[in-house]
Amino acid sequence: MFSHRIKLFSLFGFQVWIDASWLLIGALIAWTLAVAVFPNSLPGLAAPTYWWMAVLATIGLLFSIVFHETAHSLVARRYGIEIKGITLFIFGGVAQMAGEPGSARAEFLMAAAGPLSSLFLSGTLFALSAINDGHSGPPTIGAVLWYLGSLNLMLGLFNLVPAFPLDGGRMLRAALWAWQQNIGRATRIAAAAGNGFGIFLIVLGTLQVLRGNFIGGMWQFLIGMFLRTAANAEYQQTMAQRVLADVSVAQVMTPDPIAIPPELPVSEFIEAYVYRYHHREFPVARDGVLLGRVGTKQVAALDRSLWLRTGVSDVALACTPEDTIAPTAGILDAIRQMSTNKRSHLFVIHDGRLIGVLSQRDLMELLSIKLELSLDRNRPASRRRPSWTKAEPS
Ligand SMILES: [Zn+2]
Repeated sequence: MFSHRIKLFSLFGFQVWIDASWLLIGALIAWTLAVAVFPNSLPGLAAPTYWWMAVLATIGLLFSIVFHETAHSLVARRYGIEIKGITLFIFGGVAQMAGEPGSARAEFLMAAAGPLSSLFLSGTLFALSAINDGHSGPPTIGAVLWYLGSLNLMLGLFNLVPAFPLDGGRMLRAALWAWQQNIGRATRIAAAAGNGFGIFLIVLGTLQVLRGNFIGGMWQFLIGMFLRTAANAEYQQTMAQRVLADVSVAQVMTPDPIAIPPELPVSEFIEAYVYRYHHREFPVARDGVLLGRVGTKQVAALDRSLWLRTGVSDVALACTPEDTIAPTAGILDAIRQMSTNKRSHLFVIHDGRLIGVLSQRDLMELLSIKLELSLDRNRPASRRRPSWTKAEPS
């Protein structure tokens, strides 16, 4: 997701990264603070002073986001979910989780920790600002603390909006999940709220732009677009994981795969197998025992004049554990194995014998069928045949 990011530091064992997009937005925020926000709230100071305040406030903003994400991460760790790291990017921060929360309670507490930490930080910063002003501390420090206090207040409140995948939306999903015991339906409702809030921000942003507030309006517009995309992506991912969770490799694989005898000449392999079945790669096996894999890549590397005299076993590659999987393995593990090792298919091995092949095409078909079935089941009966259509003759 993030292609240009730099590691900043590590906090409680969580690696904190900063994406290039955040540096851009950080610079923009610092500039706005130095030329507009602070000169307005505290007039009459020298320009370099405003710049120092702005840099300080931008660094404070960065730490406010890290504080928020660390709160999420600490609760996640408490519930045994691995955190791959915290990344700051253009729309704030994200704690990248390796798994999904196992219970509604875990998800609710994990989501609530972020906004609560921001509200807590906001109160602390407002109090510090008041103490500073009460003891006639430097007004510049008071202004920076006050600004950071209001920023954390906004961060906390905005994230409480019940629009998935904002924290409030995750809390809503967890509450619905606990109430109705159906995570699919809970995700659908929370994602619909996220989509709706995204549209609201897009409309609001467009109106702002038309009224002349270009930067503020564009900003709302972009956040709205981002929310809608994220809500849909998260919804699809949750549904895919849900419908695939209890499927095993054996249920989806293509059984009794075409296997190439090792002594077959390459020329015959091309004629009788590659041109006929259009697979890029085939297993090489004798009496059901997998010996290796061979495909068009290995054949293409061989001089054409040698095709008649060379056996398939001479060009085949050996199979490693990355190429094979057990029939009892879960389909989600198979997908993970394929994506980490960049494989388009896996050979299914049982008791040392090749019993099937699992290909990406098998997975796509399974997913589309499963989704179709689950969507039909979740749809209310009345919607399947709208009342205004004529009943079909039976
Ligand atoms: Zn959050």
